[in-house]
Amino acid sequence: MDATGQRPNDAPEFDAVIVGASLAGSAAAVHLGREGARVALVEQRPDPRAYKRVCSHYVQASGVPAIERLGLLDAMMAAGAVRPHFRIWTRWGWIVAPPESAQTGLNLRRELFDPLLREAALATPGVEGLLGHSAERLLRDDAGRVIGVVVRDRAGDELTLRARLTIGADGRGSRVASLAGVPARVTPHGRFAYGAYFKGGAPAHAPDASVWMLDPHWAAAFPTDSGLTFYACMPTKARLADFRSDPGAALVAFIADLPDAPPIREGRRVAPVLGKLDMTNVEHEPIAPGLALIGDAALAADPLWGIGCGWALQSAEWLADAVAAPLAAGPAGDQALATGLARYRRRWRRGLRGHARVMEDLAGGRRWRAPERFVFAAATRDAGVAAAVDAFGARMIGPNRMVAAAVPRAVAANARHALARRPRFAPYRASAGAGT
Ligand SMILES: Cc1cc2nc3c(=O)[nH]c(=O)nc-3n(C[C@H](O)[C@H](O)[C@H](O)COP(=O)(O)OP(=O)(O)OC[C@H]3O[C@@H](n4cnc5c(N)ncnc54)[C@H](O)[C@@H]3O)c2cc1C
Repeated sequence: MDATGQRPNDAPEFDAVIVGASLAGSAAAVHLGREGARVALVEQRPDPRAYKRVCSHYVQASGVPAIERLGLLDAMMAAGAVRPHFRIWTRWGWIVAPPESAQTGLNLRRELFDPLLREAALATPGVEGLLGHSAERLLRDDAGRVIGVVVRDRAGDELTLRARLTIGADGRGSRVASLAGVPARVTPHGRFAYGAYFKGGAPAHAPDASVWMLDPHWAAAFPTDSGLTFYACMPTKARLADFRSDPGAALVAFIADLPDAPPIREGRRVAPVLGKLDMTNVEHEPIAPGLALIGDAALAADPLWGIGCGWALQSAEWLADAVAAPLAAGPAGDQALATGLARYRRRWRRGLRGHARVMEDLAGGRRWRAPERFVFAAATRDAGVAAAVDAFGARMIGPNRMVAAAVPRAVAANARHALARRPRFAPYRASAGAGT
C-alpha cells in the first residue's frame, strides 16, 4: 500500500494528469484529448472563467500558429482581438519593420482569452476537468518514477489521480516542479513591473504596439480589444521608490514622460493597476521519469519580451506531439513514452534555450553593450536590419540567425550613415592666380 492507501500497481485511470488549466495546461489537454488520450485537467481555481491577471497578453507572431492549431483564432478575433505589428523606440529613432516583412502578433485580454481556451479544453472528449482542486503530492513507484498526483478540493478532501504521464502546467513557482525535485537554473531579475488598462489615450499607430527601450528602463503600450490600451513599464529596481506611494500616478507620469510620449493623460484608467516586484528567471529541466513540465513551469522567463503566452502554447503542442502516440499505445507504449519525453526535451531546448540565455543576460537591468547598440542603431536606418530585429523579437528566428541576418547589413548601414554625416569639403581647385 502507498501513502494514499491504494495499491501501487493499480492501473492508472488516466493517460495524463495535467496540473494547471491556464494557457499551457488547457492547450495540452486539447491536443492530447483530440489524440484520444484520457486526461485529468486539474486547476486550483474553481471558476471556469478565471484568468491570469498580471500579464500584458501580447502573443508574439511565433505563438499565433499554436492558436490557429487549437482552432481558436476565429473565436479570439470575434472576441475583439487585434493583430498588431511592433514599433520599438530607441535613442537613435524608431525601429519599424517594413510592412511586407513585419511580424503580426495577437492581442486579447487574458480575461477573454483564458476562458475561451479552458472552455475548449473542457469540451474536448476525453478531458475531465477538476476545477477547485489543488495538487498536493506526487505519487511515485518503487523506481521513483512519477505515477500520478494527489489533489485536494476546497473542502479539504483528497483524491488520488494515477496517470502514465503527469504534466506540470502550474506556472511560475511551479509546485509540481519543486515536488518532483527537478534541477532548476535560477537567475536574478533587476526590474519591477506596473501596468493598467486605459480607455482612450491610445498610442500613435494603434493597434500596433509601441515599446520604449530606454536603456535600461522599459515601457510599452499594447492596444487591445474593446478600444483599450494596456500601458506598462518595467523600470530597474533603482526606480522602485518612485512607485511606492501611488503606483497608478507613477505609471502615468512615467509614460507621459517618454520620448514621443503617447497621450496617456487623455485616457481613463478602467482597471486596477497591476504590479509584480519579483520576476526571477527560473528554468527547470523539463522532463523527469513519468513527468513533463510545460509553459512557465518549465521556463519562467523575463516577461519584458512578451513571450510567455506563446511559449506556453508552443511547449504544450511540442509535448503533445511527442507523447500522444505512446500514450495511445497503452502500457505497451511505456518505453516509447520515455523516448517521446526525451524528444520533447530536445524540441523544447532547440526552441527556447538560445532565447532564454539572451533574455536572462539582459534581465538583471544592465545597459546595452556596444554590439547591441550597433545593431539597434542600424535597425533605425535600414529596413533589412529592422526586419531581422523584428523577427527575433517575435521569436520567429533565434539569436544566431538574427546575428547572421542583421550584422552584415548593420555594418553597411552604419557605415553609410557615418559617411553621410561626414563633413563635406569642396574639392581643392587651384585658384586662377595660384602659384603665380
Ligand atoms: C508582468 C508580466 C507581464 C507579462 N506579459 C506578457 C505578455 O505581454 N505576453 C506574453 O506572452 N506573456 C506575458 N507574461 C507571461 C505570461 O503571463 C505567462 O508566461 C503565461 O501565463 C504562462 O502560462 P502558463 O499556463 O504556463 O502558466 P499560468 O498562466 O501561470 O497558469 C498556471 C495555472 O496553474 C494553476 N496552478 C498553480 N498551482 C497549482 C496547483 N498546485 N494545483 C492546481 N493548479 C495550480 C494556476 O491557478 C494557474 O491557472 C507576463 C508575465 C508577467 C509577470
